[in-house]
Amino acid sequence: MGSRKKVHAFVRVRPTDDFAHEMIKYGDDNKTIDIHLKKDTRRGVVNNQQTDWSFKLDRVLHDASQDLVYETVAKDVVSQALNGFNGTIMCYGQTGAGKTYTMTGATENYKHRGILPRALQQVFKMIEERPTHAITVRVSYLEIYNESLFDLLSTMPYVGPSVTPMTIVENPQGVFIKGLSVHLTSQEEDAFSLLFEGETNRIIASHTMNKNSSRSHCIFTIYVEARSRTLSDEKYVTSKINLVDLAGSERLGKSRSEGRVLKEATYINKSLSFLEQAIIALGDQKRDHIPFRQCKLTHALKDSLGGNCNMVLVTNIYGEAAQLEETLSSLRFASRMKLVTTEPAINEKYDAEANRTLVNYDPMDEIQIAEINSQVRRYLEGTLEEIDIINLRQIQEVFNQFRVVLSQQEQEVESTLRRKYTLIDKNDYAAISAVQKAGLVDADGHLVGEPDGQGFGLGVAPFSTKPGKKSKSKKMFKEQLSSSARKEGASSPLSGKDLDVSTSKTQLTPSSKDGDVKDMLVRDRETSNTEPLASDSPKEELRPPRPSTPPAKPVAFEDFKNERGSEINRIFKENKSILNERRKRASETTQRINAIKREIDMTKEALNLQKSLREKQGEYEKKGLTIIDEEEFLLVLKLRDLKKQYRMEHQDLRDLRAEVQYCQHLVDQCRHRLLTEFDIWYNESFFVPEDLQMTLKPGGSIRPGMMPLSKIVSLGEDDQDRFGQLQQTTLPGGPDSVSFYNAKVKMEQKHNHLKTMMGLQQAHRK
Ligand code: ADP
Ligand code: MG
Repeated sequence: MGSRKKVHAFVRVRPTDDFAHEMIKYGDDNKTIDIHLKKDTRRGVVNNQQTDWSFKLDRVLHDASQDLVYETVAKDVVSQALNGFNGTIMCYGQTGAGKTYTMTGATENYKHRGILPRALQQVFKMIEERPTHAITVRVSYLEIYNESLFDLLSTMPYVGPSVTPMTIVENPQGVFIKGLSVHLTSQEEDAFSLLFEGETNRIIASHTMNKNSSRSHCIFTIYVEARSRTLSDEKYVTSKINLVDLAGSERLGKSRSEGRVLKEATYINKSLSFLEQAIIALGDQKRDHIPFRQCKLTHALKDSLGGNCNMVLVTNIYGEAAQLEETLSSLRFASRMKLVTTEPAINEKYDAEANRTLVNYDPMDEIQIAEINSQVRRYLEGTLEEIDIINLRQIQEVFNQFRVVLSQQEQEVESTLRRKYTLIDKNDYAAISAVQKAGLVDADGHLVGEPDGQGFGLGVAPFSTKPGKKSKSKKMFKEQLSSSARKEGASSPLSGKDLDVSTSKTQLTPSSKDGDVKDMLVRDRETSNTEPLASDSPKEELRPPRPSTPPAKPVAFEDFKNERGSEINRIFKENKSILNERRKRASETTQRINAIKREIDMTKEALNLQKSLREKQGEYEKKGLTIIDEEEFLLVLKLRDLKKQYRMEHQDLRDLRAEVQYCQHLVDQCRHRLLTEFDIWYNESFFVPEDLQMTLKPGGSIRPGMMPLSKIVSLGEDDQDRFGQLQQTTLPGGPDSVSFYNAKVKMEQKHNHLKTMMGLQQAHRK
């Protein structure tokens, strides 16, 4: 391209009933935003200095729908990515201003989905429109918290536990994160599943590891690789779209600057200001050194910031007077970014030198090999229909990986067998007779008492197990577990929030189809009880519950749904009805498709009949063209129409299925939230010690629902403070101590989690 482009900076204002009309004014051009601070403001903000500011940005999005935001902010970046331009879209702003809402969207409603799912949809739509290209899409989801890297997709099958910590690696092809799992997605549905998995892990991690999710940066990356199917395949274009949900930009911890808070504050403020420095340096053509390596955030984004890529910044702000100070600071950041220019360039790559021979191919890198391995596995599993052929080198690697997978599976089968059985060589008569003497097997090698070898319980599934079957067996397993939990009589009303979290994954999987709110509670209770408890974890003295016996949980749940949970319950119901409506439409479309298919078959048959009649009667020809009669002509037209209709309906069906899947996820999430909030409410209402109840009252220091459960149970012993002290007394500074400290904190937090569960279990019994 070669032309310089500015970083696009947008501002999105979070809707509020309490908009500060006197202080915030929009220009008629939809681009200007003026801030006026009253001189006598009680907050004492810079009241002796400037009181008026005016910012001009690319667009001020006020009361804008998610649709409009996507069109304005992301659409071009995504479409350019398919032409080989890297793109980065970042949301910046103070916590609560709407970054996650903008990036990921509300989890409650399909209509309110954010940039991320929409970008995935656009990518797949564009691929469909470009049959001349073989385009592959991969995704990864990285979280950076206190300068440590976390793979939000590490729980996906085939990823396996990472042996070494992730590191950022640079090679001539660009920057990549070694150890971060990258997932090939051949369709929208796969991509959504990955997104949801990552979101769920983000939520779970924030609970189990006590991470504050507003303090971490999350980078969802879509990697696109496009090769022409028609032209020579040496040249191909690659690109990345980084969708970045930055940590809250608010100045933190001035009042409580110690321990963890201080550390978080330092890291966030530093990484955000390094980000700014890097982008500004990139825009300065005279600069040749760009300080990328100052922090993980800029290092990871090195080839996707400014420079040769399309950059978009969305600054999320509040419209309320109380937040004006942070709003000002966010707007300043936005206007500084807007001045930066970049020079987007296509990432063209070549497989090898002009004369392609096998020896010229570079060896594949780890990521490419891992990707082919995953393709092969999915192909064997049946979730991938075909492996796209790209070039000879790739075909060779596919074969290689087939061998790898095959030998791994052989080993797995063998080790499963060996774990369960003693394998004896059939020709080793001495060994067989020894075993026979011992009475273990009969002469044919069957287990004694097990005719036909039935009931071995070996469970070696055929390699081609379809994924559907798999989830079914998983479900059966879950049912068994819960029924055994029932048998054990675990029917106490309490199911803790933390327990909930640990099982929430099962609740979010698509296999947990929507049930009714009625049986939700029962299910919730069942699954919570399946959590195994470490028997040797230290016991924590539990304060006596409030004297009055708490109401039965099902009764309380009804109350909750009508009162504090009414909003989420309403949304839950609404989503379910949307889901049902989409399902109905999908099933109607399927019926229509089947009908069209039948008609196509009939028309084809009729056409064949006509053709054979014609051939029997002798054909007419005119200038080399066969003349057909009107009847046959009409049939040809009809067939063409039907096929077109068929394709269109198919497209609709695919879209509908994606929507159904998305809505299903929303319903599951809503259900989970309803239950989680109910549990919090229930615990806070009936189990919180009275002295703490005070702080929960309106005007108290803790907002309802915000009290971590560990505080309820292990009250009086603030582990976080202890760690703050530990950090200051025993840890010297320096990078080495960081990982040590992190490891300690994690260990303690895990421990805490167990303690909490013990406490809850005790409460169960009481
Ligand atoms: P952040 O990620 O910046 O901390 P969130 O995206 O989590 O903030 O937003 C905080 C709350 O405000 C969420 O409940 C979210 O649904 C809501 N919210 C934010 N922006 C909007 C908007 N434009 N429209 C409706 N609700 C919004
Ligand atoms: Mg957020």
